[in-house]
Amino acid sequence: MSDLSATRSSADALALVRADLVGFAGYASARRATGNGRVWLNANESADESPADTVGGLNRYPEPQPLELCRRLAELHGVDSAQLAVTRGSDEGIDLLVRAFCRARQDAVLVAPPTFGMYAVCARLQEAPLVEIPLLPSAQTWQLDTDGILDAVATRAVRLVFLCSPANPTGQAIALAQVRELAGKLHGKAIVVIDEAYAEYSSTDSALSLVNEFPCLVVLRTLSKAHALAGARIGVVVANAAVISVLRNLSAPYPLAAPCAQIALAAMQDDVLLRSVQRCAETIRERDALAATLRGMDGVRCVYRSDANFLLVRFDDAGAVFERLLDSGIVVRDMRAIPGLGDALRISIGSPTENALVHQALAVGACA
Ligand SMILES: *Cc1c(COP(=O)(O)O)cnc(C)c1O
Repeated sequence: MSDLSATRSSADALALVRADLVGFAGYASARRATGNGRVWLNANESADESPADTVGGLNRYPEPQPLELCRRLAELHGVDSAQLAVTRGSDEGIDLLVRAFCRARQDAVLVAPPTFGMYAVCARLQEAPLVEIPLLPSAQTWQLDTDGILDAVATRAVRLVFLCSPANPTGQAIALAQVRELAGKLHGKAIVVIDEAYAEYSSTDSALSLVNEFPCLVVLRTLSKAHALAGARIGVVVANAAVISVLRNLSAPYPLAAPCAQIALAAMQDDVLLRSVQRCAETIRERDALAATLRGMDGVRCVYRSDANFLLVRFDDAGAVFERLLDSGIVVRDMRAIPGLGDALRISIGSPTENALVHQALAVGACA
């Protein structure tokens, strides 16, 4: 095992980057310039703050990669600052990855549907072919078709494999041993991206611990879910430093609004993190209670096991349940248009009060 890992190098990851982008340095933004300036006249900014600027200092362009925030996130994720990029939500991270690794009309993106829609959207925008290797449903879980994925990468020009763990919308996490196996077998052939948007709700170990071992492995995290900052748009890409350097060069010049970066840093302090952990524990309790209630109801076909903050549920008549919830003012995600989910709804776990309303609305005449 150790002999093998010694032969895995960042050059294998760089070899997968679009050849036309190798050496591309991106936009030389004013904030990339360093030096001991006292009078900053290089970015055509206003010298004065706006009267509307309650934050202060917004007359200046923000840091492209806020130093303190990067350091803190690196510390929390157990990596070096150079192995991490902060993005405008993980949506931007997904977009940067597709741009970096896929030549239009040539290099494919592999997904395992049903899955998060942004992978296909970003592939479409880059004109990258989409290869779909569906998850295999069993009683209360979905499994990765590992052989199907390996076969597709071996026979088609797949450059990026997007896997979601815990997965949206199915809810289950991928065991670390399985991630390790895939990352090993696909090393040098494709970049494996593990999207861990819901990791904080899961008891499965994070793939962050594998990043040093596998230069072609990328992990996505976000502050949008467990950290309660969806509106601040903060995502994190963790990978080999060479891959991160490529992504940073492709990024928008100033992707992160200064107030959002400040709030993100504040959210990574110990006391706030503790609150997130407590909130997650409550969400998990609420999730399991709602799952148990649903499993006992007539008209409920299947409640998938969930490692996330939502439940994927199949009903005899999903449309009627959707309407009934809507009559009570409760909006859940209608999954019926998604292939294989024609009878399913995805229900996010809300506050205890909100969840009680869901219990109430569903209890009226069960779900039959
Ligand atoms: C919600 C979600 C995200 C988060 O995206 P942001 O752009 O960070 O808000 C990423 N991946 C998956 C699978 C998600 O469900």
